[in-house]
Amino acid sequence: PSHETVNLTTCVDEAIQLLSLQKDKTQVEFVNLVEEDAIVEGDSQRLIQVFVNLLANARDASEQDGHVFIESHVSQTLDTSSKEGISELAFDGYEVTVTDEGEGIDPSHLDQIIEPFFTTKDPGEGTGLGLAMVYSIISEHGGSIDVQSPADPDTQKGARFIIRLPSRLNSD
Ligand code: ADP
Ligand code: MG
Repeated sequence: PSHETVNLTTCVDEAIQLLSLQKDKTQVEFVNLVEEDAIVEGDSQRLIQVFVNLLANARDASEQDGHVFIESHVSQTLDTSSKEGISELAFDGYEVTVTDEGEGIDPSHLDQIIEPFFTTKDPGEGTGLGLAMVYSIISEHGGSIDVQSPADPDTQKGARFIIRLPSRLNSD
C-alpha cells in the first residue's frame, strides 16, 4: 500500500459520509468515537474501503434506528523474550472496533464469513466479497482482524469486528 499518514477518525467519517448516500438502506446512528491521535501509515483510500465494508455490514445487521459504535484504542504488545529482561515492542499500533446491536453471527458461520462469496444476504443484497476485501487490505497493512459474537454478554447480541493496524508499515 502507499505510505501516507492516515488519520483513522477521518477515514471513519468519510465512510459514514459515503454510506449516508444509500438512502434505501436501514438507517442507523454511526457513533464515531475514534481518537484524533489514531494515526497510521498506509493507504487512506483502501482504509476507507475497510470501514465502508465493516460499517455497511453492521448497518445491514441492525434494526432501524440502531447504533453502531466505532472506537479506537492504542494496541501494543511487548516481546518479553528479548535478552537482558528488556522488553521491546513487538506490536505498536491501534485497534479499531466496530460494534453493532444486531443479532450477531451464527457460530457455525464464524469460520466462513471471511471467505470470498460467503453471504447470508438475499441475492442482489450481498456479494460476499466485503470481508474478503477487508482481510486483504488489513493484511497488506501488516494488521490483523478478529471478530467477537455476541459482542454483548448480557443481551447475547451484536457483533464486534476488531482490526489492528501498525503505526508504521514494514519497509520491505
Ligand atoms: P456480504 O455483506 O456481501 O454478505 P461480507 O463478506 O461483507 O459479504 O459478509 C459476509 C457475511 O458475514 C454476511 O453475509 C453476514 O452473514 C456476516 N456478517 C458480516 N458482518 C456481520 C455483522 N456485523 N453482523 C452479523 N453478520 C455479519
Ligand atoms: Mg458486506
